[in-house]
Amino acid sequence: MNTPISALLERKGAVLHSVTPTMTVAAAVAEMNRNRVGAVVVLDGGRLAGIFTERDVLRRVVGAGVDPNTTSVSAVMTGNVLTVTSETTIDQALALFTEKRCRHLPVVTDGRLIGLVSIGDTTRWMAEAHRAEAEHLKNYIAGGFPA
Ligand code: AMP
Repeated sequence: MNTPISALLERKGAVLHSVTPTMTVAAAVAEMNRNRVGAVVVLDGGRLAGIFTERDVLRRVVGAGVDPNTTSVSAVMTGNVLTVTSETTIDQALALFTEKRCRHLPVVTDGRLIGLVSIGDTTRWMAEAHRAEAEHLKNYIAGGFPA
């Protein structure tokens, strides 16, 4: 699918949930739960410093037995963030999710963080596009062969 990520962001809305590197893991998890999201970007004075996801809670916090009330986000986030631009296509994003084994991609355009797409957003988009195409073809066939 050659649709750019910008179309998906327009539909989804560019809401971006973030935390700071010095926040405790417990506070970051509370923020994720409050917003019902599986990932937050970590912003340090507006700069993208990392990403923290539910997988990190599982592996680097619970799995590693660290205390979420005294551990800061910076200690358990991923600092080297893979990003896409608003021109990246949905197909390219899906390929990155598979190749890089992650489910979240922040979108950066002209050096500005403008949103985040998840694997759920892209599969929802694809399912909707396939449904619309099937509907279109059904109407075309029904119209092409009148009873
Ligand atoms: P996820 O599948 O997105 O929950 O993340 C799996 C692992 O990859 C976690 O350690 C995340 O911190 C990391 N991760 C998620 N998204 C990205 C990204 N865009 N760039 C780099 N690391 C990421």
